Amino acid sequence: MVVFRRDPCGVCCLILTYSAVIYADYCIVNHVIIPTISERYIWGTIHVIIFNTIALLLLISHFRASFSDPGIVPLPTESLDFSEINRNHTTQNGDSEWTACTKCEAYRPPRAHHCRICRRCIKKMDHHCPWINNCVGESNQKYFILFLFYTGVLSLYAIILVAISWTKKCLGCSKEYNQRTRYIYTIILMIESCLFGLFVIAMMCDQFSSITEDLTKVEHVQRQIRSNRKSRSALLADVFGRGSYLLWFCPCTPPTSSNYVGTSNSNRFYV
Ligand SMILES: [Zn+2]
Ligand SMILES: [Zn+2]
Repeated sequence: MVVFRRDPCGVCCLILTYSAVIYADYCIVNHVIIPTISERYIWGTIHVIIFNTIALLLLISHFRASFSDPGIVPLPTESLDFSEINRNHTTQNGDSEWTACTKCEAYRPPRAHHCRICRRCIKKMDHHCPWINNCVGESNQKYFILFLFYTGVLSLYAIILVAISWTKKCLGCSKEYNQRTRYIYTIILMIESCLFGLFVIAMMCDQFSSITEDLTKVEHVQRQIRSNRKSRSALLADVFGRGSYLLWFCPCTPPTSSNYVGTSNSNRFYV
């Protein structure tokens, strides 16, 4: 199933991504390899083939991550009765983690989440990525990580080739095409490669930690919200008192929050 989101931000990011790859390819071939390595014909050809192969793998990964189904939860054929679902659904299935989404009205399996941009529930949703204009979920995470990987490899390869070309004399330079023109193109490519390279390294670390910890970004954020309901210092203050930190070390002063703690406990009890 081919999916396409009409999200303006996502569409801009798609255009930017493809433009960046096309620029990198054009720049490497026309302003790095041809003016500097062309005299060693075989090396020039090898670099062009390798660079284009990586770029092709990057584009395929990106295309599949962008336009394939990330794991959309199918919609029911009939509209759901939410009062019945809340009462009966868990007991009928014997699986308390299956829930019903009130936004897209679909039964969703455990770890599925609703994406407000895709307007659908996505199985094992990690996050919505504008760079692929799609959600990263159960079915396309592999492509997304491959896209990051090949972008990282291509960026590193471009950085190395540009750095080598700066140490070499411009063989194909003439009045129309001089050293300055070559530097302008290659400096822009260097900046682009460094930015994209650093960005994908950070994203890859993030993805691998979410895989190894078996915790998607959405779940990670939810856990943070739960644990951040009270800060660490607030929890300590519940125990030691809300006065000066120095009084925390004094065994003679009662915790100033003792009445507060009692109230909150009794509230919890009545709830
Ligand atoms: Zn939903
Ligand atoms: Zn989405």
